[in-house]
Amino acid sequence: MNAFTSNPPPSVAGKGGVKSPALAPDERDRYQRLADRSIDLELVEAVDIPAREGRAIIVPSGSVLRVACHQGAQVGDMIVFNAENGDEKFWGARSRVIHGSHLTVGDRLWSTPPYTRPMMTMIADTLAEREYPAGVRPHDLLFCRCDFRHYEVNHGDASLPNCQQNLATAIAPHGLTEAQVHDPLNLFMTTGLNEDGRPYYLPSMSIKGDHVEFIAEIDCLAAISACPGGSSGSVSHGLELSVFKEP
Ligand SMILES: [Zn+2]
Repeated sequence: MNAFTSNPPPSVAGKGGVKSPALAPDERDRYQRLADRSIDLELVEAVDIPAREGRAIIVPSGSVLRVACHQGAQVGDMIVFNAENGDEKFWGARSRVIHGSHLTVGDRLWSTPPYTRPMMTMIADTLAEREYPAGVRPHDLLFCRCDFRHYEVNHGDASLPNCQQNLATAIAPHGLTEAQVHDPLNLFMTTGLNEDGRPYYLPSMSIKGDHVEFIAEIDCLAAISACPGGSSGSVSHGLELSVFKEP
């Protein structure tokens, strides 16, 4: 499940001194050992996200964030900030250009300019080795987060819970505003492009017990919404966040 097969093109991001998109051999080895726990990790914080809600968690540099479908299939819209500077945040479009439309082990979450550096690297993905229908993959960078307007237009009800508001509520205690919510990495969301080039989704193919893990490259604040929309499937579940560090 931890293939570390990512082979991104030469750097299109960052200034001198920042890490390359490709993992160095020693990094790759260390991340593999963190993922398989041949390096011991201890749990430092756990947060349960109730179905259709959002929560935020601090992920200090060098620690590991696990996002788990502990109840069943569920999409998690994840946004990330520099924990000390809300102006530096996850740049989904740049990450897509570097790593592709769907992320997996070895791929990185890059930050917005002028910082443009890795914020996190995915080190474990239980969905990576699974078979998928032609053209779709998990952990989507094609879609945006859902918002009230989406539900107003498509379901005639603007009051339904949505990821935009869930994420805004989750980051508010950290001094961040709704305007700082940005396009997420849609964990466990199974998507593709149709023949007209339009993104589409299938119900999440995650199952109970699936998880992804990220190592933080800088001090991060991660906020995740258990998406109330149809991409999660017919039943809404919660998500479980855990942060681990070396003892
Ligand atoms: Zn959503």
